[in-house]
Amino acid sequence: MPKERVQKKSRQHAEVQKQGINFNKEFGQHILKNPLVVNSMVEKAALRPTDVVLEIGPGTGNMTVKLLEKVKKVNACEIDPRLVAELQKRVMGTPYQSKLHVIVGDVIKTDLPFFDVCVANMPYQISSPFVFKLLLHRPFFRCAVLMFQREFAQRLVAKPGDKLYCRLSVNTQLLARVDHLMKVGKNNFRPPPKVESSVVRIEPRNPPPPINFQEWDGLVRICFSRKNKTIGASFRFTKVLDMLEKNYRVHCSLNNIPIPPEFDVKTKVNEILTSKEYDSKRPRQMDIDDFLGLLNCFNSAGFHFS
Ligand code: SAH
Repeated sequence: MPKERVQKKSRQHAEVQKQGINFNKEFGQHILKNPLVVNSMVEKAALRPTDVVLEIGPGTGNMTVKLLEKVKKVNACEIDPRLVAELQKRVMGTPYQSKLHVIVGDVIKTDLPFFDVCVANMPYQISSPFVFKLLLHRPFFRCAVLMFQREFAQRLVAKPGDKLYCRLSVNTQLLARVDHLMKVGKNNFRPPPKVESSVVRIEPRNPPPPINFQEWDGLVRICFSRKNKTIGASFRFTKVLDMLEKNYRVHCSLNNIPIPPEFDVKTKVNEILTSKEYDSKRPRQMDIDDFLGLLNCFNSAGFHFS
C-alpha cells in the first residue's frame, strides 16, 4: 500500500478507535453524527407518545435515544452484536431501558414486529428488499421516514418521463405515497460514505389497490426489462410469449375453458397491445394507470404473469 494511503488509513482508524468501535463497511456502517439531521428525521415522523417505532440498524444509538424520548416503545433490529452491546450500554440504568427492544439479526430475514412508524438511517445495500418488505408488511403502519442513497431516493419518487423512472418507482408508488423530504450531505456521517443521501417519507396506501402484486410485478418487469423499447417490442420476445402461453393454458384448464384450435399466443398478444395503442408506448412515459390498464387488458383475455 502506498505510504500516504497507509497514513490516511491509520488516521481513519485512530478516529474510529476514539469512539471505541471499528465501523464495518460490509454492514454499511455510517453513523449519523449531525444531531440536527437526527432531530429533523424524528420530527418529520410526527411521532405520538403511544407509538411503537421500528428502527433498522440503530448502530450506536444516536437516533434511538431521540426516539425513546418520544414514544412508548422502540423495536430496533441490528445485525452487528458489537453495536447491540454498545446500544444496550447506552440506555442501561436509564428510564429508556425498558422501552427498548433489540432484535439481533438481519432485518431482511427477520419477521418484523408490530410497529406504527418506521424511522431509520439504514444500510444502503438493503434498500430495495427492505422497501418491499415494508410495503407488503401487514398490519399497515402509518408511515416510514428513511435515509437512502440519493439516487435510490430519486428513483423512489421519480415520475413518468424522469430520467430515473423505473420499476422501483412504479412498484413503490402503486403501494405507497412517497415524498422526498431533504438532502443530506456525506459529511453528516462518520465515516462519510462515498455517495450523497436523502430522506424520504413513505406512506402506504390503505386500503391497498385491489390487485395481485405478483401479477403486477410480473408485467412491470417485462415492460422495464428494456426501458427504452416500446411495449410492443418487449412483448415480442419468445421467452415472454412462452411464459404467457404456459400461464394461459394453466388458467384455461383450471377454469374449464376450452382452448380454440386456432389459438396463437402471438396473435392474441398483438390484438391486446394494439386495441388500446399500448403497442407503441414506452414504459418510461407510462404512469401507474397505464400499467394498470395494460394488466387489466391481459387479465381480461385470460393472460397472467404469475
Ligand atoms: N442508525 C445509525 C447507524 C447507521 S449505519 C445511525 O444513524 O447512527 C447502518 C446500521 O445498520 C449499522 O449499525 C449496521 O450494523 C446495521 N445493519 C447493516 N446491515 C443490517 C441488516 N441486514 N439488518 C439489520 N441491521 C443492519
